Amino acid sequence: MSEEYGVVVVGAGNAGVSLAARLRRDGHASIALVEPRATHRYRPMLNYAAAAGARMRRYERPTSRVTPGGVDLVADHVVAIDPVARTVRLGSGRELGYATLVLCPGLTPAWEATPGLREGFDAGWAVSAHVPENVDRAARALADVTSGRVVFSVPPEPASCSGTVLKAMFLACDAWRRSGVRAAIDVHLVTPYAGVLGLEPIDSRLRPLLAADRITVHDRSGIASVDAPTRAVRVDGPRSLGPTDVALAYVTPRSRAPEFVADAGLAAEGTPGLVDVDPLTLRHMRHRDVWGLGDAATVRTRPSGGALRRQVAVAAANITAAVAGGEPTSRYDGYTVIPIAVDSRRLVLAEHTRDGRTAGSVPFVDLTRPRRATYLFDRFVEPVVYDRLLLRGRV
Ligand SMILES: Cc1cc2nc3c(=O)[nH]c(=O)nc-3n(C[C@H](O)[C@H](O)[C@H](O)COP(=O)(O)OP(=O)(O)OC[C@H]3O[C@@H](n4cnc5c(N)ncnc54)[C@H](O)[C@@H]3O)c2cc1C
Repeated sequence: MSEEYGVVVVGAGNAGVSLAARLRRDGHASIALVEPRATHRYRPMLNYAAAAGARMRRYERPTSRVTPGGVDLVADHVVAIDPVARTVRLGSGRELGYATLVLCPGLTPAWEATPGLREGFDAGWAVSAHVPENVDRAARALADVTSGRVVFSVPPEPASCSGTVLKAMFLACDAWRRSGVRAAIDVHLVTPYAGVLGLEPIDSRLRPLLAADRITVHDRSGIASVDAPTRAVRVDGPRSLGPTDVALAYVTPRSRAPEFVADAGLAAEGTPGLVDVDPLTLRHMRHRDVWGLGDAATVRTRPSGGALRRQVAVAAANITAAVAGGEPTSRYDGYTVIPIAVDSRRLVLAEHTRDGRTAGSVPFVDLTRPRRATYLFDRFVEPVVYDRLLLRGRV
């Protein structure tokens, strides 16, 4: 016998918690939030923790504490979904029935996509803050480098706010500069985009900063494979890295959605298992009672926490309309954001819509310019906004 809920939300990350809170505020009475992890992390702090000494522990909360009041936290993981019978099966064998299902299980590393990378991480020679469990190791490894070549890589889409790899890179360069070793470190950036992030005007802002910091950019390139024993990184792209002895490989693995999405027939073809939603309404393309948002959904924009502010509002409005028997009328324009600290004082913000158009959130202020105020906001104010407003469905 399954336990019946009005809404089952899968995943208590940024998307799942914010949406459950918003739905609760909008009057939905019966909501289950399924999440196996006991700890919820404020992920945007991971880059600061890796390269600028922020203590990640201050930005972690028990999942039970971020679960909105009136929402049932189900501390388990989804193993299967039957979208016809409208049931969700959990690892423990429990079964939940739903009228509305919302999938926000985030992305998971696709280790198999980069030969040698898993072994490189195990050896401590490859690191990335985008593997949250690896962040302390990444911090130690970056602090330990005093000379040699360091390769940073931006992974191709789908990836979670992948441009923020540059934040870790610039912050690490700044720390090396302050400790007097920067001149002995040869920094390379590998990016799949043309230019830097393939977006204007942010690329024009970043180019002179990269040149001033003597960072070699390999654009339209990817990491083909790595080999920890010989400390080699093989780059696929117009320009090879040359004979390499890489001191540290800051290589972020490629990503995919958890397998249960594809197993349930809910994934979009040609994607690594992403939930197949209409990117405008966030409703599933084939199952009207299934919705998806966040990193794991086909929202056709670069995923980010900032993008979720609008996605949560759109999904909540459309779900509420659908439950009342109406049609979804709210539309997500693809707004997203990439905050990049360019040193330990200043930050640039790339905000754009799905078609790459600039979408500044503050009128008459060019936030793509390096500014102290945006650094302070990102580093100190945003975590409070996240805790007090976003996770409570108030934005
Ligand atoms: C290093 C890093 C830096 C970032 N920096 C920024 C930034 O500066 N600004 C910004 O806006 N965004 C940033 N982001 C992106 C932002 O954190 C993500 O876009 C956001 O967390 C996505 O939320 P989500 O809920 O979709 O996924 P997640 O936050 O990944 O949550 C997914 C949840 O689903 C759960 N789950 C997975 N499988 C199952 C299952 N089988 N059953 C039940 N639950 C499951 C997971 O345990 C997880 O808790 C960053 C991300 C990273 C990794």
